[in-house]
Amino acid sequence: MEDQQEIKTGNILTDKFGRSHSYLRLSLTDRCNLRCSYCMPAYPVFLPHKNLLTSGEIYTIASTFKKLGVTRIRLTGGEPLVRPEFDNIASRISSLQLPLHLTTNGYYVDEHIEILAAHFKSVNISLDTLKKERFEAMTSRKGFERTLQNIELVLKNKIPLKINVVVINGVNDDELPDFIKLTLKYPLEVRFIEFMPFRGNQWNTEKTFSRANILQRIESIYRIESYGQLPMQTTEDFRVKDAPGSFGIISTVSKPFCEHCNRLRITAEGKLKNCLFGLDEFNLKPYLNHEEDLLLAIETAVKAKHASYGGLDPMFDGKATAQYSLNRTMTSIGG
Ligand code: SAM
Ligand code: SF4
Repeated sequence: MEDQQEIKTGNILTDKFGRSHSYLRLSLTDRCNLRCSYCMPAYPVFLPHKNLLTSGEIYTIASTFKKLGVTRIRLTGGEPLVRPEFDNIASRISSLQLPLHLTTNGYYVDEHIEILAAHFKSVNISLDTLKKERFEAMTSRKGFERTLQNIELVLKNKIPLKINVVVINGVNDDELPDFIKLTLKYPLEVRFIEFMPFRGNQWNTEKTFSRANILQRIESIYRIESYGQLPMQTTEDFRVKDAPGSFGIISTVSKPFCEHCNRLRITAEGKLKNCLFGLDEFNLKPYLNHEEDLLLAIETAVKAKHASYGGLDPMFDGKATAQYSLNRTMTSIGG
């Protein structure tokens, strides 16, 4: 293996449009304790446990991508904290000394808080509503109070925190000002995410509450200031003047950022997806014990990346919804 480091790794993560990929999102499982309808179909079918990448395989993938130039890793899912080996996986990946981040629904955060405080550079907790009944309606599960307590726990442990809010027209868009109030009180970032189409999530354009609508709603109440967007960042950042916290908008539907995309995703069973929306998948699992073949598989996947939307027609006008519904469910991709 060591000798093979001499294999030319220089531009394996650069695609044919010159985009270099430095950010890897690793899904630990497709399972989840919640059932958000925008993410999980009504009757989900999960991978058998034996099909999931093992802790060792996940480590091999992470260390290979580090060698190729990845500078940031996010653990996600499904719900990463339902993976029984989570602590072990996180500790091993953390030994690679790359900034490690987590996206979670927050429910099990208290059971892992030491590991999170020790190894993670930031934690994103998804919470789409500040109303208990609505939480239960949107997730089809209980757990609102525990999630709120865990948000406080993350803040108490001074782990940089972002709250992810998928904004759905007519469902939770009325709560934007309440989420902004959190940024006036706490040093956290709220990120409003436009609702995106995936298999089985009943998406249509009317349900997406757009970036323009989000800004208009907030600006009708607060004076806000923009503090920019780095080219490779999906989030545009804003804050209410003098607030300790900030907010961002992820506008994949109305203002996509494909041109600067630097992300690659690995599903829980080891398929590389070079785009969140594309239907192409590249199975890395058969090559994990042979570095040369693994690098070739990765390079093939990266070079096959389409300019935008995984080669599908644009999503914003709703004419291509059927194409997007051929993709996986979000929970099985690793969002
Ligand atoms: N279970 C974890 C969670 O909820 O944060 C991690 C996985 S979840 C798939 C990752 C992120 O994708 C969450 O912030 C979730 O809100 C977001 N997400 C899921 N489905 C989405 C959709 N259809 N449109 C936009 N964001 C979505
Ligand atoms: Fe689970 Fe996260 Fe999907 Fe909700 S968004 S169903 S918490 S994976």
